[in-house]
Amino acid sequence: MNADLIRNMERRNFLVHTAANAEEAKAIALSLIGKRSVGIGGSKTAKQLGLYDTLTGQGNEVHWHWMVDKAHKQEERDRAIRCEVYLASANALLEDGRIVEIDGTGNRVAGILYGPPYVILIVGNQKVCPDFDSAIARIKRDACPENARRLGKKTPCAATGICADCRTQERMCNATVLIEWPLRIHKEFHVILVDEPLGL
Ligand code: SF4
Repeated sequence: MNADLIRNMERRNFLVHTAANAEEAKAIALSLIGKRSVGIGGSKTAKQLGLYDTLTGQGNEVHWHWMVDKAHKQEERDRAIRCEVYLASANALLEDGRIVEIDGTGNRVAGILYGPPYVILIVGNQKVCPDFDSAIARIKRDACPENARRLGKKTPCAATGICADCRTQERMCNATVLIEWPLRIHKEFHVILVDEPLGL
């Protein structure tokens, strides 16, 4: 585990947890959540961990727009950001401890920045980058093309695997957010660092 990253995140008041693998990360997340209601942002990491099924199975109220039909997605996004806990991943972590998120709709960054007072981000080790430029390059190379294909977006990255900084209605990279410190609204901002790749 990257000791500098952990120290730099803790200096910024993020509550850092370390997990050797996905199973450990899931156990930590479940113990932090307890019986609280949970909103989930778009997150392949959460999906890989099976958190929705486990949480609903144990009786938590969970709102995740990935689990409802198109007609109800907006309502579900709205409910998610009014839960007690917001669960998502980061698109990248910088070694200086800052967090990068890129969003298309805005619900995920809204949920993290000005939603529930408890935030939990679960982050695989492939998302740790030395600096902002390398983080953006990683996101555009490794996350955006696959996300665009999953969503059926007709973006250049979906077609070629390469970002063309597109100017289309289908564009997904509409807001790039750099989180330097928990916001005033946050009571606890947890980051679970996983020592293996997870998500995109
Ligand atoms: S700006 Fe457009 S082409 Fe580039 S990664 Fe985002 S959606 Fe894809």
